[in-house]
Amino acid sequence: MTPIRRSLLLRLAWRQSLLRLLLLYAVAVLVGVRLGALPWVLLAVTAGVAARGYWRLLRVTRFLDWRQQLRTVHGQGMWAALETLIHRRQTETRARTRRLVGLLRAYRQAATAMPEGALILDRRSLETIWFNKSARRLLGLRYPQSLGRPLPTLFNDPRVAAFLREGIADEAINDLPSPVDPELRLNLRLLRYSDREWLVVLRDVSQLVRLEQVRRDFVANVSHELRTPLTVVHGYLDMMEPDDNPDWAPMLGEMRRQSQRMGDLLEDLLTLSRLEARDELGDEPVPMQPLLTTLRREAEALSQGRHEIVVDDALAADLTGSPKELHSAFSNLVSNAVRYTPTGGRIAVRWAANADGGATLSVQDSGYGIPAQHIPRLTERFYRVSTSRSRESGGTGLGLSIVKHVLGLHGARLEIESEVGRGSRFSCVFGAARLVPRPSAN
Ligand code: ADP
Repeated sequence: MTPIRRSLLLRLAWRQSLLRLLLLYAVAVLVGVRLGALPWVLLAVTAGVAARGYWRLLRVTRFLDWRQQLRTVHGQGMWAALETLIHRRQTETRARTRRLVGLLRAYRQAATAMPEGALILDRRSLETIWFNKSARRLLGLRYPQSLGRPLPTLFNDPRVAAFLREGIADEAINDLPSPVDPELRLNLRLLRYSDREWLVVLRDVSQLVRLEQVRRDFVANVSHELRTPLTVVHGYLDMMEPDDNPDWAPMLGEMRRQSQRMGDLLEDLLTLSRLEARDELGDEPVPMQPLLTTLRREAEALSQGRHEIVVDDALAADLTGSPKELHSAFSNLVSNAVRYTPTGGRIAVRWAANADGGATLSVQDSGYGIPAQHIPRLTERFYRVSTSRSRESGGTGLGLSIVKHVLGLHGARLEIESEVGRGSRFSCVFGAARLVPRPSAN
C-alpha cells in the first residue's frame, strides 16, 4: 500500500468514526430527553462506547503478537483501519522474511556445495565459526565438535599461524599438506571480508603439485639421459683433427660449437632442476673479496679486452649461503653484461650496503639495454629479447632463471633497471640477515 492510499484510508476512517459517534450521541440525547433521564442514557452510551473500544483494543493487541495472523477485519472506522494496516504490515513482513530466509538458505547451500573448502574464522582468536562440507573432508573436521577450534592448531606447519596472524590476504600458502593425509596438498587463501571474521578458502592442488613434480622429473631425467651420448659425441669430435681433412674443417668447427651449446643447455637445465628440488641452500660463509676477484677475472676472460671492467668492493661484510650457487648467479649476470655490451662499453660490478641494513651486488653495463615491456618476463625460462643475439653470444636462455632461483633460496630478490641504448643494471638485493662482518685481515 502506498503512503498516499494509507493516509486517505486513515482520513476516511477517522471521519466515519467521528460521524458515527456524533450520531450515537445525538440519538442518545433525544432518547434521554424523551425518557427524562438524559444523564443516565449518556452514561450508558459512554460506557458502551468505552467497552467496545476496550474490546477492539484487546483484539488489536492480540494480533500484534507476532505468531497470530489477523485474518478478518471487523466493521468500519478507526479500529477497522488500524486492523487493515496491521494486517498489511504483517503480510508484507512475512513475505520479506520468507524471501530472506530462502536467499540465506540458497547461499548456505551454495557455500556448502562448493568444491573448495570454506571456513569462517574469528579474526582475533582464529577459532572456526563455520565450515562447509569440503573443508570437513580436506581437514578432517567434525560437526559440531570442531567448531571453536583455532585453525592453526590443525596444521603442523608454523607458516599457517604466521599467515593468519598477520592476515596476509594477497598471497596464498601453496603445497600445504592436509592434516588428514599428507599426500593431499592444499592451497590456503585468506579473504578479509569483515572486521570481525575472515573467510579461509582451501583448494586441493594435489594433482597440480604432482604434475609439476612429473614435469620437473621429466626435464631432469631427459637432461641426465642426454648427457652421456653427448659426452661420447663430444669426445669423438675432439679426437677428429681438422688438419687431417681440411675440407671438413668448417663442418667440424660447427659441429663442435653446436655440441658445446647442447652441453651448456643440459648443464643449465640440470642446475635448474637441482635448484627447484631444494627448499634452502647451505649457510656457509661466502667471502666476497675473493668472489669479486673471480668475477673480475671471468669478465676479463670473456671480454678479451673489448670492455672497461670496474669492480668496487664498498662494503666490509660477507654473505652467508651457498658459495657455489651464489658464484654461479653473479657469474651469469657478469657474463650477460659482457655478451650484451658492444665493444668499448663499460661494465661495473659493485658490492655495497643498502639503507635498510642489507646489501646489494649490482652488475651495471653500458650495453644494448632492454625495452621495458620485456623486463617482467626476463627470468622466465628461454625468454629472450633477441633470440639471435642470445644464440650468437652463446646464451642458453636459462641464465636469469637460475639467478632468480638462487636468489630466492637465499631470501634475496633480483631487481632489473634498463634503458634501451644506454645499458642495464641487475641488482641482487640481500636482507641484513644474510650478512656477516668480514673477518679482519690479520
Ligand atoms: P641468455 O642465455 O639468452 O642470455 P638469460 O636468461 O641470461 O638468457 O637472459 C635472458 C634474456 O635477457 C637474454 O636473452 C637477453 O635478451 C636479456 N638480457 C640479459 N642480460 C642482459 C643485459 N645485461 N643487457 C641486455 N639484455 C640482457
